[in-house]
Amino acid sequence: MSAIKGRNTKPELLVRKFLFSRGFRYRLNDPRLPGHPDLVLRKYRSVIFVNGCFWHGHEGCKYYVLPKTNVEFWRNKIERNKLRDKEEQRKLASMGWHCITIWECQLKPKVREQTLEALVYTLCHIFLEDRRIKHYEPNEENILIAAESKVSYNNL
Ligand SMILES: [Zn+2]
Repeated sequence: MSAIKGRNTKPELLVRKFLFSRGFRYRLNDPRLPGHPDLVLRKYRSVIFVNGCFWHGHEGCKYYVLPKTNVEFWRNKIERNKLRDKEEQRKLASMGWHCITIWECQLKPKVREQTLEALVYTLCHIFLEDRRIKHYEPNEENILIAAESKVSYNNL
């Protein structure tokens, strides 16, 4: 994806600055991962793609408008990009990563705050869910109580 997307684009910087200010730490464009996600948050098992609405063909978005000329060329090109995005996300998911896509239009001034707050919420939710699954253990207290016999009380 890096070939069709400039590094340090403004939308990407917005996401980075916001997450950093909230205490999140991340890697950028990890070359070992499919699709070289813009941000990699290992602690949250999450990767974030900040996608331009045109290049990645954001369905139903007013910023995804094909040029009037060479329509077929552009349509094919964007379709290929979309297929590649899908394939990369499928690979990432199979490796256990949560994939989060943020669209450029979701970072326009009017909706930016809402989008970024929702992102933080999502990341915290993922983090808690991961811990809940990993740290589940049977309740030992119940087992100990069940092992107690009446006789031991009578002898006290
Ligand atoms: Zn869009």
